Amino acid sequence: MSRDAGPVAVPTYPRVPVPLSARAVLTVDLHALRANWARLNQASGRAECAGVLKADAYGLGLAPIAKALTSEGCKTFFVASVDEGRAAREVQPGATIYVLDGLLPGAEPHYAGFDLRPVLASLPEVRDWAAYCRARGRRMAAAIHIDTGLNRLGMPESELEELAASPELLSAFETTLVMSHLACADHAEDPMNERQRLRFEALRAKLPPAPASLANSGGLFLGQPYHFDLVRPGIALYGGRAHENKPNPMQTVVRLAAKILQVREVSPGQSIGYGATYKVAKPSRIATIAVGYADGFLRALSVATGEAGPVGYIGDYPVPIVGRVSMDFITADVTEVPPELARRGAWVEVMGHRVTVDDLTDRAGTIGYELLSRLGQRVYRVYEGTGV
Ligand SMILES: *Cc1c(COP(=O)(O)O)cnc(C)c1O
Repeated sequence: MSRDAGPVAVPTYPRVPVPLSARAVLTVDLHALRANWARLNQASGRAECAGVLKADAYGLGLAPIAKALTSEGCKTFFVASVDEGRAAREVQPGATIYVLDGLLPGAEPHYAGFDLRPVLASLPEVRDWAAYCRARGRRMAAAIHIDTGLNRLGMPESELEELAASPELLSAFETTLVMSHLACADHAEDPMNERQRLRFEALRAKLPPAPASLANSGGLFLGQPYHFDLVRPGIALYGGRAHENKPNPMQTVVRLAAKILQVREVSPGQSIGYGATYKVAKPSRIATIAVGYADGFLRALSVATGEAGPVGYIGDYPVPIVGRVSMDFITADVTEVPPELARRGAWVEVMGHRVTVDDLTDRAGTIGYELLSRLGQRVYRVYEGTGV
């Protein structure tokens, strides 16, 4: 191909070999993940930087993500459930693992058996954990979750005061962390952040001194007053945007590409896909690409006539996505791409450095967290940078 004939199409995707039968490939760049953790660790100053691994590490695969973060120096992890905690424990025998769900009734032995620390979110949970510790004759570790305004999980002030006045409860177990969670950390200027920080200061002071934690990714970028002793980033590790309306300093971790199954000529006036919502205006070549909403490519990314939609890339050639997203397929206009590149079996990158997860979810009216955590199991997964 001549280099002066417009963009240079380099079919670089994917960089690692995948089976010829793979129709869509999710590439997780563990180099970029580790660089992101190192950057957040740096930004958190003297506070410890943990890693949040809930929902299969935001859909990217708990085991490889946990291993990569550990190799970079991360020692503390947060998961949502006991099952996730068990999966994390299997790959990280030495790590500290907190379970954000708190303590499910009767599930104490599961926490103890896998050395998981419940994030106790109510007085009944504290009572159960204290009773279990006493029965076992061991002061086992747990976090105490204080609500500072999110009103989701965490102890309200009244319960906290009752706990503070119950030394026999507090002495039964070891409080290794006192934490709360911010409601508006993705908006740096929101006054709710400062309100929650001050409330956290005031409420935690009622308990005996213990390491404290308030910040998720967004909170971490709010600066040192939000760091306390430990920060808990999730989305920023995975390359997502922590703050809306601000440049994203994190490296891209996730790329999604899929193969062209068929290319067809479509004449003016004809429509493409379900609902016949997209009509072509001029003679076009349309590629059907093997990724759909069952793979996590959100149906809200569908494009009707006259709408600006997401763009995929074949090498350096942008290919506008057109028509409805269906369960298994999307369609893209490849009229401007040389036919030898836009051919059956060629890769189209639909998410990556150029079209980020946040670009897609802004258009779909959702957030990167949702797209990543809903990536389908059908997508072939590749981990780059597994060697340290
Ligand atoms: C999910 C979660 C985090 C991580 O949040 P990000 O916005 O992804 O950084 C931290 N703390 C708690 C309690 C969470 O539920």
